[in-house]
Amino acid sequence: MARVAIPKGHCRFCDAQYGRAAMVKHMTTCKKYVEKVEDGSTDNIVYELLITGGYAGRYWLVVEVLGNETLAGLDSFLRQIWVECCWHMSEFEIGGQSYVSQLSRFSYNDKDMNVSLASVLAPGMTFRYRYDFGDTTELKIEVKSERRGGIGVKGSVPGKNNFGDGVRLLARNEVTEVCEVCGKERPAWIDLDAYYSDVPAFWCRECFVKSLEEEDPDFDPEEDDLEDFIPDTFREFCNSPRMGVCGYEGSSYYGDD
Ligand SMILES: [Zn+2]
Ligand SMILES: [Zn+2]
Ligand SMILES: [Zn+2]
Repeated sequence: MARVAIPKGHCRFCDAQYGRAAMVKHMTTCKKYVEKVEDGSTDNIVYELLITGGYAGRYWLVVEVLGNETLAGLDSFLRQIWVECCWHMSEFEIGGQSYVSQLSRFSYNDKDMNVSLASVLAPGMTFRYRYDFGDTTELKIEVKSERRGGIGVKGSVPGKNNFGDGVRLLARNEVTEVCEVCGKERPAWIDLDAYYSDVPAFWCRECFVKSLEEEDPDFDPEEDDLEDFIPDTFREFCNSPRMGVCGYEGSSYYGDD
């Protein structure tokens, strides 16, 4: 089986580059990060989470959350940064218990997400998150550590994010895919047909326009709207495990990176 290259990421505080597991360790020693952590309060529990998705977990986030944040707040963060397309249902499965975004009268054992993280999480625990019960995107969440203190507000921009100040992004994977035509630019689209044939999967805007100019006699770059010529099999390229699924068109997360 081919070894999957998991992209590295940058620490949002000191900009050092690490792989997924090394980044989790780095956060306990990063001096710039430790400076930013409020140390006045010892009442709060803070959990460090590694959240992974996609094949072999090639998409990843290192996140810290306050113990008094709710599952609903974490759900809202995950929707904004990675998965929201059309308000599908979502679910956390923790220790055999389901916590769902909308309670259904057909599943009496489920609980809602208005549950504090401190009441359900513990260091060393792994749990699942599912978004959309049709075309499901499944994430694995590992509770890497627990400490006392605060998290500041760097992970959210007031008035823009809905998930409150209880969730902060520490690091995420970089985009390593490049356009498969020029081999250089960040892709603008993924072609879903590439799963079934040998057409290029990733296209940058320039290469797509060039291919239209060369191959489509109806296309006039001066007059025509490019959007009208985008094939049905093209989807927005996104740094998300939900890329290409359902109507997903990218993040509504307004973090500072
Ligand atoms: Zn750092
Ligand atoms: Zn959808
Ligand atoms: Zn290109």
